Amino acid sequence: MVLQQVDIRSELYSQSEDILAERIAARKKELAEKLLILCHHYQQESVYKFADMTGDSLKLAKHAAACNDKPYIVFCGVHFMAESADILTGDNQAVILPDLRAGCPMADMATFDEVSWAWKELNGVTDVDRIIPVTYVNSSAAIKAFVGERGGSVCTSSNAERVLTWALERGEKVFFFPDEHLGRNSAIALGIKPEEIVLWNRDEYLGGNKAEAIKRAKAILWNGYCTVHMQFNAAHVRMWRERDQDIRIMVHPECTHEVLAGADLYGSTENIIKAVSSSPPGSKWAIGTEINLVNRLARLNPDKEIHSLSPFQCLCSTMYRIKPKYLLWILDNLVKGEVRNQITVDPDTAKLAKIALDRMLEI
Ligand code: SF4
Repeated sequence: MVLQQVDIRSELYSQSEDILAERIAARKKELAEKLLILCHHYQQESVYKFADMTGDSLKLAKHAAACNDKPYIVFCGVHFMAESADILTGDNQAVILPDLRAGCPMADMATFDEVSWAWKELNGVTDVDRIIPVTYVNSSAAIKAFVGERGGSVCTSSNAERVLTWALERGEKVFFFPDEHLGRNSAIALGIKPEEIVLWNRDEYLGGNKAEAIKRAKAILWNGYCTVHMQFNAAHVRMWRERDQDIRIMVHPECTHEVLAGADLYGSTENIIKAVSSSPPGSKWAIGTEINLVNRLARLNPDKEIHSLSPFQCLCSTMYRIKPKYLLWILDNLVKGEVRNQITVDPDTAKLAKIALDRMLEI
């Protein structure tokens, strides 16, 4: 979802990074009692250094909810993350996204209308009461609400296999969105056969499948993907294997199954950080995830050799829209008592989405 970002004061455009940093630090001090700045692991350093808390999207949203004495939550991430934080935080807390254009292309690949339409088509060929919808946390609040209303759950990249197992204990099939690859990697890890996995092409009737294939399927996967993790491929894995036999390859499960199959390990951002940080000095790693995180790992672990799996910069360009000047613009306004760029989820949607989030926490 791309929202309209108002033009910020032009004076901020001409300031050097040092001046912006000084002014952000001063504003942070002024607002200390009221302010919580959250930064996702993929955030650039010039913003990340101002974080009160860093983490993946769900960890940050839960932390915001726990800090209920902080009325201003500045979320340096993307739109769906700020929505999740708004759902979990209290009415006394405003969740703010410094640049409204910071969306997630993957989340935008599954809209409420498209998913509702697909559900209707499925209902024409199979019993949808036996399908459990599961959405990756990287999805809009409207999609989480859709899932919550139909007995389904949210999942993250670290618990997707557990949530799929839970879903298949309750129904015959899982309808998984928006990330095809997290869905496929999790389904394969659970031993679901390739012929029981179908891809739902969002532009075609029945997702481009025959009714028989849908009836046979255990996992129906929406054909969304992460534009960052799709940049890693099997040739990158081969390149590192040929270059260095001692290197360990770890990738995020949003990568294709081909990439995962060639890697030594896979895991969420938090698990990648843990694996690299706890490895012995001298360890060598090629990491398949967003470049800001890989560069940070390399800087924080000088006793290890850490590379990006791809020779190209795999950057989350929407997250990158959160720049120091936008953060300062938000803080300048908060000091004046003005809340800009607040992200709010309407109460009906929030209630249903929270059901789906709570189910995940129970699983
Ligand atoms: S890294 Fe991928 S999934 Fe995460 S916010 Fe960016 S585009 Fe979306």
